[in-house]
Amino acid sequence: MKHSPPDPSLLSLNTATVREKWNLEQMIEGCARRGIRGISPWRDKLEALGAKEAAARFRGAGLTVTGLCRGGMFPAADRKGRAAAIADNLRAIDDAATIEARCLVLVVGGLPPGSKDLAGAREMVRDGIGEVLDHARSAGVALAIEPLHPMYAADRACVNTLAQALDLCDELDRGASGALGVAVDVYHVWWDPALERQIERAGEKRILAFHICDWLVPTTDLLLDRGMMGDGVIDLPLIRSWVEAAGYRGFHEVEIMSARNWWRKDPDEVLATCKERHQRFC
Ligand code: ZN
Repeated sequence: MKHSPPDPSLLSLNTATVREKWNLEQMIEGCARRGIRGISPWRDKLEALGAKEAAARFRGAGLTVTGLCRGGMFPAADRKGRAAAIADNLRAIDDAATIEARCLVLVVGGLPPGSKDLAGAREMVRDGIGEVLDHARSAGVALAIEPLHPMYAADRACVNTLAQALDLCDELDRGASGALGVAVDVYHVWWDPALERQIERAGEKRILAFHICDWLVPTTDLLLDRGMMGDGVIDLPLIRSWVEAAGYRGFHEVEIMSARNWWRKDPDEVLATCKERHQRFC
């Protein structure tokens, strides 16, 4: 099936894409120069500028903040570690509120060091999200659980499919209040035979963010070898058609961690390439 190109104004820059060479001010200026209307900062970049100052600059540049990356990392070996994770998530929620982010992305965490108890880690994730959800609700911040590819189950996220993330949403936020949903990142979920069905199940109430990049063959690094749209094997127009059929009308956020390729290039050219590839391959 032939898909028409996406609305160019829906492109958003996840700051991970140009994080090696630019600070947040430069990213904001770069977006303005290239006519990119959305931005999703990581917390290191946000902290360097300060959330309040960043909020003013986002507003000044007319940027929609499509997310804040990231909260989560709930499992820990002991009670103290889990409490520290909760405290960190509460701070992240407050920052997301300050910058009026559409959501706080949760990379939920994997196994505590030395543990083999995957089911236990998943319980800690459920309990952790449950503990911060009320604070998110009162701050007006939606939490977006991002299922990560199973290769990250040990060290980054033990929520690995959209079905699993949606089960958590249903358990913790029964009425789909808007406070809890998912971030659909094609890099993590493109392979899933249940993807179309689970996107439909999520619907517009649960899909809070849509992250794009591509899966390279071969992939030479588990974390830092993501591809630019069009350079890999993900059928981006097809997955976009599914999220749109589910009612999602939000931004398409480019998130490319690429230590040996895109991070080495001139960030301004990377932005230009993102724009062009968004139109041609998404
Ligand atoms: Zn993502």
